[in-house]
Amino acid sequence: MLSAKFAPWHLIPFSWKYAKLRLRRRPVLVHFEVTMRCNASCGFCDYWKTSPEMKAKELDSFVDAAKAFDPMVVTWTGGEPLLRRDLEELVGAVDRAIRFKWMTLITHGAMLSRERARSLWDAGIGQFSVSLDYLDERHDRARGIPGLAARILANAEAIRGEGMTVRFNTVIKDDNLEEIMPLVRAAESMRVGVNLSVYTDFKNGNTQHLLRDDQTERVQALVRELLEFKRRRRGTISNSDHYLEQIPRYLRGEMTEPCQSGKDTVHIDPYGGIRRCPDFPVDGHWTAYDGYAPIKCDKCYYACRGEAQAPLRTDRFLDLVASP
Ligand code: SF4
Ligand code: SF4
Repeated sequence: MLSAKFAPWHLIPFSWKYAKLRLRRRPVLVHFEVTMRCNASCGFCDYWKTSPEMKAKELDSFVDAAKAFDPMVVTWTGGEPLLRRDLEELVGAVDRAIRFKWMTLITHGAMLSRERARSLWDAGIGQFSVSLDYLDERHDRARGIPGLAARILANAEAIRGEGMTVRFNTVIKDDNLEEIMPLVRAAESMRVGVNLSVYTDFKNGNTQHLLRDDQTERVQALVRELLEFKRRRRGTISNSDHYLEQIPRYLRGEMTEPCQSGKDTVHIDPYGGIRRCPDFPVDGHWTAYDGYAPIKCDKCYYACRGEAQAPLRTDRFLDLVASP
């Protein structure tokens, strides 16, 4: 199953909840961004420049929003969420407030020790999504944290060894195309999952890592390798086949389907503001949410955008029941 917290019988209440949310046109996935502060210094994101003074303005509970949306998937994100010392309390309160949800935590992983993972898992987290774009020091340099990749790999193995679910969030960039399959195989050997996204410059205008036109053939070959890997072994790569198949089309600029962000997924920032997606401006307080119309935007092809557009095919069901 997607998370070690779930058993096959969970598919029944989850399917029921999914149908209810779709019928009521409510988001299936809600991102709770608990802080914009971050102690990494990625060149493709400006969150780490957030003033420490903003800490005082961060929400001390997401329970009301959780009850109002009652989503099927809750993603705890940042900034770096582990900078919040009260993260276990935030997670635990939401865990008690709503039923039949899958809660994941996105982190850069530098502070995700086995002990912290255990306390967050016990509070309600059902998957640790750790950013990892390279297996070596290139990842440390990209994030500005010495020793990061080695720490992530060691901790992921230890956390997985205790029966908790870990997935690497890996962004496909211009300079890691040859890294993707080795990373997937390393994850497979550790029984850790991988979720892939495509690099975007929408966060802060950094075009340095955009996939180039002359890399199209290599990207197509990589997609074939990933799909072939999935056919052999489901569970390691959590992207749908559809998402992977569409990557070359997105890169060629042929994706004309409107983005469903704000409709199927929605983002609540640390101060209670609501956005259709993390990279769009705030539209007001979350209590004023009245749905978003699909939008013609092609600024990103992150997994959350792509999966919202993916049709419900048999292979998605197989992905749901497979384990890393
Ligand atoms: S991408 Fe993530 S880890 Fe990097 S600065 Fe932004 S919030 Fe921090
Ligand atoms: S494509 Fe969708 S998710 Fe991506 S930036 Fe545009 S509106 Fe946001």
